[in-house]
Amino acid sequence: MTSTVLVTGGAGYIGSHACKALAEAGYTPVTFDSFVTGWRDAVQFGPLEEGDLRDPARLDEVFAKHKPVAVMHFAALSDVGQSARDPGLYWDNNVIGSLRLIEAMQRASVEHIAFSSTCATYGEQDGVMLDETCPQQPINAYGASKRAVEDLIRNFAAAPGAVLNHVFFRYFNVAGADPDGQVGEFHRPETHLIPLALDAVRGRRDKLTIFGQDYPTPDGTCVRDYVHVTDLIAAHVLGLEYLLKGGASEVFNLGTGRGFSVREVVEAVARVTDEPVPAEDGPRRAGDCAALVSGSRKAADVLGWSPDHSTLEQMISTAWAWHQKPGYRN
Ligand code: UDP
Repeated sequence: MTSTVLVTGGAGYIGSHACKALAEAGYTPVTFDSFVTGWRDAVQFGPLEEGDLRDPARLDEVFAKHKPVAVMHFAALSDVGQSARDPGLYWDNNVIGSLRLIEAMQRASVEHIAFSSTCATYGEQDGVMLDETCPQQPINAYGASKRAVEDLIRNFAAAPGAVLNHVFFRYFNVAGADPDGQVGEFHRPETHLIPLALDAVRGRRDKLTIFGQDYPTPDGTCVRDYVHVTDLIAAHVLGLEYLLKGGASEVFNLGTGRGFSVREVVEAVARVTDEPVPAEDGPRRAGDCAALVSGSRKAADVLGWSPDHSTLEQMISTAWAWHQKPGYRN
């Protein structure tokens, strides 16, 4: 019998890639999703359980039915701009939802969790490369909500008699799509740089706006560390196996250690698609840090992770293939 893993947010961009990788690694991924931001046609690799994390009775039912050995927790709102405008949404959905999930795990005696955290928990750090020991000083409600969930998992894990082994993955900028084209990125509204640049190339939007040209970076635009979703998920499967083999709770940055400016990404999109990217300069976006680059090799050293698909060309070309796929949501 294969082991089951509960994947919250399994109908979303990153969660759907996780379900595919788990199925390929011999697990049964059970998607738990509210479909507030997820997509039914992304659920292809295992059973679906629809529900809201803030519904304890529904969670108890799902844990009792599927008896997962572990949880991969992706379900969250993740739009930095929205979180700056409406912080309450982020505290309610991300923090309260996670609290209910952890409580349900305890009731069901599920001992392992891989949690989807973010480099946005670090906030602005004066141009340093960010490793896992950097202080967490988020500058937006999205980052604050993810830091709060890290704290709550740590607190529950430290309670007398509790067993809650955890790996936190602090993502840098996730991009790209499944190289087989079965799943990919689609947000409504889309807010991320690479899909928006591809939309501009395809004429699905007039222009890409470049948010801010006066950041303290080499070309004045924000610098980010982009990591391919396939690589990111490979780290989760390694992290799960690490926990199941008795590994101690840990936190890992997932980035490549190489930063690219918004202008460099836009140039790479033009190169890969062989089309100009209609773009204009605009004001800064609320909540953006100047630069976020991972300075850590810990995931490589502890988990044996290597981000082999994470060149800009690989990320943009898989995303471009996904955008051009017949049936892509128009
Ligand atoms: N960005 C931009 N124009 C857009 C969307 C994003 O200039 O239409 C910039 C954004 O300010 C940030 C970078 O691209 O510096 C990556 O943004 P994204 O929303 O993709 O990811 P985030 O860094 O917010 O997680």
